[in-house]
Amino acid sequence: MLSPAPTKAPRYRAITRANIESTPEWDWVPRELQEAVKTVSTVLPFRTNRYVMSELIDWSNVPDDPMYQLTFVQPGMLSERDFGRMQDLLDSGADRAAVRAAADEIRYQLNPHPAGQKTHNVPHLNGEPLPGMQHKYRETVLFFPGQGQTCHAYCTFCFRWAQFVGLGDMKFEARETDQLTAYLAAHPEVTDVLVTGGDPMVMNAAALEKYLSPLLDPQFEHIRNIRIGTKSVAYWPHRYVSDRDADDVLRLFERVVASGRHLAIMGHYNHPVELSTDVARRAVARIRSTGAEVRMQSPLIRHVNDNADAWAELWRTGVQLGAIPYYMFVERDTGPKGYFEVPLEHAWNLFREAYQQVSGLARTVRGPSMSAFPGKVAVVGVAEVKDERVFVLEFLQARDPTWVRRPFFARYDPAATWLDDLRPAFGEPRFFFEEEEPARLPVLS
Ligand SMILES: *Cc1c(COP(=O)(O)O)cnc(C)c1O
Ligand code: SF4
Repeated sequence: MLSPAPTKAPRYRAITRANIESTPEWDWVPRELQEAVKTVSTVLPFRTNRYVMSELIDWSNVPDDPMYQLTFVQPGMLSERDFGRMQDLLDSGADRAAVRAAADEIRYQLNPHPAGQKTHNVPHLNGEPLPGMQHKYRETVLFFPGQGQTCHAYCTFCFRWAQFVGLGDMKFEARETDQLTAYLAAHPEVTDVLVTGGDPMVMNAAALEKYLSPLLDPQFEHIRNIRIGTKSVAYWPHRYVSDRDADDVLRLFERVVASGRHLAIMGHYNHPVELSTDVARRAVARIRSTGAEVRMQSPLIRHVNDNADAWAELWRTGVQLGAIPYYMFVERDTGPKGYFEVPLEHAWNLFREAYQQVSGLARTVRGPSMSAFPGKVAVVGVAEVKDERVFVLEFLQARDPTWVRRPFFARYDPAATWLDDLRPAFGEPRFFFEEEEPARLPVLS
């Protein structure tokens, strides 16, 4: 049963570089930092909203507050050289075109499209690429609805940032739902559709229904699970509680569940404060009342959640509310990664320190995991084998399904932050997955 919607419903309104100065909270930020936010945001956009500003950020703790770090760009996100260049341009009153050209140049150096997202994961149908989809792992197709390519607020670490600044080159077409259904009809091995973005939950209920309804057709019985990846549960939980079409969204979820499918709302929760408000808790309860599950996943990010106690508290609260801990990711190799990255050894230590604090119900979480080119690689730990200090690693997901859960070893490197930094242990020239051609690369189909 749905609890009734409250009478006074806050309306969503974006706060960006253009109007941040008119918010009362902005006065909490020291002048020098305000200038830096303005400079960095010419390259990396920020976007937030009233709820995040007034209920999640602790302004007395700026700039260290985790939610402030998650929402507002920081001076350390650009190299000194790039920062100086943009500041000079702004100080000299350069026109928009010049600022944009310089910003684009810097953006292209920030690896905007990591892990083969544009080259290796785009599926084909009858020889035509389907740019609004990715099919990397056999069972699961990712679908990026054209109307869901923004967010209620932007995470400063966002690995989809290129889309928000117009570097995305993702071509969305009116035919996109037809392409998805035609592709799924031709691929009975696919059991999961993951609708993602940006954030699909920025769409209104009618738009969302247009994408989801066709999947409920009996010809798609092989689609057993539908997931929606979303940050809305943390950044705008009103989406499920008091927005004008909140009840319509929940009824749509009920319809998906009634079709016999598992519906999972993959909530991108970064920090326990995101589950501390009444509205955030009501959102979880209302989603679960439809029969949908809520799961929690997010990356480990320096300055935001590089803190074992924060993770343990997030997982504990999640389990209590019925949100199932799912993945802890390693921050990806894109954007201002130097600002956010955590060495793999430290990530593993934080993970186990948090994991040791929670009961078995929260140990559904897996990680720390890198979504790298060959697959999702988890750091199992650091060990001594044959007198050599090594990282023990395993695939949780792989381009070739036979690679999954086959332990492999890399030379210990205390500074390594990503799979590309690692070299095989025991003097071997290559990792096992570099020796074989993947058996099933969806892109070859
Ligand atoms: C993580 C991911 C998935 C889903 O993997 P699961 O292990 O099923 O959660 C699917 N496709 C891509 C490209 C991914 O990165
Ligand atoms: S929720 Fe995801 S897509 Fe949206 S801004 Fe954050 S990281 Fe990017």
